[in-house]
Amino acid sequence: MIAIHHLNCISSCPLGGRMMDGRSPSVLQRGSLCCHCLLLETDQGLVLIDTGFGLRDVHDPRSRLSGFFLRLLAPDFREEMTALRQVERLGFRAEDVRHVVLTHLDFDHAGGLDDFPRAQVHLMQRERDAAQAQHTWLDRQRFRPQQWSSRDRWQVYGTRTGGEPWYGFECVRDLRGLPPEILMVPLPGHTLGHAGVAVHGRHGWLLLAGDAYFYHREMDADAPWCTPGLRFYQYLMEKDRRARLDNQQRLRLLKQRFGGAIQVLSAHDPTEFERVAGRPTGTPPPALLSL
Ligand SMILES: [Zn+2]
Repeated sequence: MIAIHHLNCISSCPLGGRMMDGRSPSVLQRGSLCCHCLLLETDQGLVLIDTGFGLRDVHDPRSRLSGFFLRLLAPDFREEMTALRQVERLGFRAEDVRHVVLTHLDFDHAGGLDDFPRAQVHLMQRERDAAQAQHTWLDRQRFRPQQWSSRDRWQVYGTRTGGEPWYGFECVRDLRGLPPEILMVPLPGHTLGHAGVAVHGRHGWLLLAGDAYFYHREMDADAPWCTPGLRFYQYLMEKDRRARLDNQQRLRLLKQRFGGAIQVLSAHDPTEFERVAGRPTGTPPPALLSL
């Protein structure tokens, strides 16, 4: 049985405050959005789902990240909140992480890749190709080759090859070297090769939907709602509007029909993170006591 840890691998603090996160006291101060990653203990070693910002981002953000996003998001660069330091806090080492599965290659999800030199990295082929192509100015700000020292360990999957059913979605089932309880569920829109990652744990399925949606009330079946700031941010970042909105609707239906068996989570919603992790977004997990 896979054990699941919830890690917030560095919060972003966007301009717009309450207009973004819906819970900061005002629109004049910066808001707070988490970067929800999962650490899985499996028979095949540790598996990390998304990596947040990494050590090198914390130590030298300007050489790694775009000035545009640094000004917009002002990430809370605390070393103790990187995936690596949280993995160590839980009693493991970097080398124990044998696999990383990425929802997509945006800078706030791929920054920690460099910190896990033994890990195979799994992502959709479409995501790799579009990120490497760097077609637009915004692509060059969001997809940062400086974060890709792991490139020779990337394992990619085509959307056509894996089309097996999973609760009405297509999924990629056979991730190389990973147990069958971990699937990729393509959810394009935010980026072209964006995917959710589904994990079957003690309490049923958990679907980390990455940036397919940003605000928990977007998943409300009867009256979906998003803060205006995050509505605009998703519009700014989308690569395929139609696919993005279709996938949001499909996720709402999934939640409505199978909500008892499947928990759906966004990468960036602090309310969801705090509910499932049982601690505030700014706090790392309790350290393992050494005997
Ligand atoms: Zn993101």
